[in-house]
Amino acid sequence: LDPEEFRRQGYMVIDFLADYYRNVEKYPVRSQVKPGYLRERLPESAPSDPEPIETILEDVQNEIIPGLTHWQSPNHFAYFPSSASIAGILGETLAAGFDVVGFNWMSSPAATELETIVMDWLAQMLSLPKSFMFAGNGGGVLLGTTCEAILTTIVAARDRVLHRIGRESIHKLVVYGSDQTHCSFHKSAKIAGIHPNNIRKIKTTKSHAFGLAPESFRLAIEEDLELGLVPLYLCATVGTTSTAAIDPLGPLCDVAKDYRIWVHIDAAYAGNACICPEFRQYIDGVEKADSFSFNAHKWFFTTLDCCCLWVKDPNALVKALSTSPEYLRNKATDSKQVVDYKDWQIALSRRFRALKLWLVLRSYGASNIRNFIRKHVDMAVLFQGLVAKDERFEIVVPRFFAVVCFRVSPAAILKQLYSSCHQHCPKSVGDDSVNDVNQELLESINAGGRMYMTHSVVDGAFVIRFAVGASLTERRHVISAWLIVQEHAHAILGRKNC
Ligand code: PLP
Repeated sequence: LDPEEFRRQGYMVIDFLADYYRNVEKYPVRSQVKPGYLRERLPESAPSDPEPIETILEDVQNEIIPGLTHWQSPNHFAYFPSSASIAGILGETLAAGFDVVGFNWMSSPAATELETIVMDWLAQMLSLPKSFMFAGNGGGVLLGTTCEAILTTIVAARDRVLHRIGRESIHKLVVYGSDQTHCSFHKSAKIAGIHPNNIRKIKTTKSHAFGLAPESFRLAIEEDLELGLVPLYLCATVGTTSTAAIDPLGPLCDVAKDYRIWVHIDAAYAGNACICPEFRQYIDGVEKADSFSFNAHKWFFTTLDCCCLWVKDPNALVKALSTSPEYLRNKATDSKQVVDYKDWQIALSRRFRALKLWLVLRSYGASNIRNFIRKHVDMAVLFQGLVAKDERFEIVVPRFFAVVCFRVSPAAILKQLYSSCHQHCPKSVGDDSVNDVNQELLESINAGGRMYMTHSVVDGAFVIRFAVGASLTERRHVISAWLIVQEHAHAILGRKNC
């Protein structure tokens, strides 16, 4: 690794990325390539001789960029955001540059210690109780994804209970979520050895805004107890993936406490907003939970991957996940004065993720990060207002954060059918037809490439999600996005005949 060559190529890569950001708005937001496009364009085998960075970057421009969906485009309103920032990208670069493998304290003390400090700082910003912080005998860890946070905490809860009731009872353990809980919960439970029949997806309803009703949770537990099963774990969500719905944490934790159930709170997306005092209420009750996680790589201007997990009882993680091969033995570990994060996660090796979070926190400061998030929410409010003013559309669920769920209303479709009717006009329009219109609308917008949104289906209704959160998005992008939606809706409704 020649430092001068590194400097030369490094400048070129940063220049390349700076140009990418300058031009990102010009690219079609959703990639327009066909499956297999890249195999057609790249050689069949790896080059046997070195190639210059100039040629490689040319190929990144010509072959790779067309196959990117531009998450950092100001017109990306799909999924949940992935908000990059200068500090996030450069923090990632620094960590990659050092390339330390911080599995335990000794393997890179700064990596471990910075992580404990940053996790305590974040806990303070979220007003988490002291019991989640190192000073309160809890603590935080940076993982890659929420899936890992759920898996590690299920495994910790599982082993704690199996220690009491015997390993042979694993088939009796039951875990609970709602029909809105992210699929990573199901996957994690399966990996943790929970029998697939014992993974509950409790039904939510529109009348509870798709939050998990505590009484439904209690009912499910009681039914399982009657069957001789052992309730283990609840994954409650603040900001569900479909509609950003909120499970009522306090009452759910109260139910869980009666049955000694581990409660994990998955606030992958919405947890970011909870650093703002006005949104903190949505995690009220967190003080009664066992663990809490959010993805800083979603809405905290930190690059993927960066999931922040806090637990009240790190020992439960360590008991379930610790390994102590001879080659890792060292005095610091033996002294029990240090955190060895390898025992808080699945893998042994780990990245120096704390560096990018530290850069983000220091470069912007808590108040600016809060203001960025508020600006995104304000833009979602703006979009919601535009939707509400157009009688052809309806808002499907209440908006809490920066996601607006909307659709062309059944009434608008019926009205269109009437206006084109010559004889036997229907009295109502079926759910499938409404869904078809909305699906067609979304696909036609996304195929155009000027903006990108995604959908969900709740209570049988196909819903279009408009999620604001890209770092470059401004009000003008939101306004033009709405004009695009109207333009496509006009064309599609105009083609509907009775
Ligand atoms: N939980 C929620 C509520 C999510 O919205 C998502 C992803 O969008 C996840 C979990 C999965 O996160 P990850 O990809 O970090 O596992």
